[in-house]
Amino acid sequence: MIVCIDPGHGGSDPGAVGKVPFRLQEKDVTLAVSLFLHDELLQLGHTVILTRKQDRTLSLSARAAFANRFNADLFVSIHANAAASVTPEGMEVFHFPGSARGQFMASRILDRMLEAFPGHKNRGVKEANFAVLRLSRMPAVLVELEFLTHPEQLRFLADEANQRRLANAIAGGIHPGF
Ligand code: ZN
Repeated sequence: MIVCIDPGHGGSDPGAVGKVPFRLQEKDVTLAVSLFLHDELLQLGHTVILTRKQDRTLSLSARAAFANRFNADLFVSIHANAAASVTPEGMEVFHFPGSARGQFMASRILDRMLEAFPGHKNRGVKEANFAVLRLSRMPAVLVELEFLTHPEQLRFLADEANQRRLANAIAGGIHPGF
């Protein structure tokens, strides 16, 4: 399978920025997990392309166009969540409304993430008309790893061992494919 991994945000767009107990930018978490996910999927025998491999600015339409140009079989956008208060937490995965294959992949990925991290709240599989999901021509999912605005989950997201295990779980949901 050709998998396009899309590390959310980057460059001049930091995405969400957590500040407690220390500063952590969404763009850095998404890139770290995406690079580990790239390695995991390669090891499983998939062809993997990344919309960005370093800290750079990229429009939403350019991300989808990249996946379309390479005829990817699956588009996986990696994000970390944020809320107005410190209490919301949990994992959720989005797919484009009405996409059965998107929903299939989203639920498999979320199941594996919650298996790997059973203490985390299940916020469910959800539909969303996000630009990257709408503009990509293949089944597409958007993973919200955890909340940067929740102090305990910020620590969770900053930890490299957790980033690796998140990537491993997401790869386990993607593999063997449809
Ligand atoms: Zn984001």
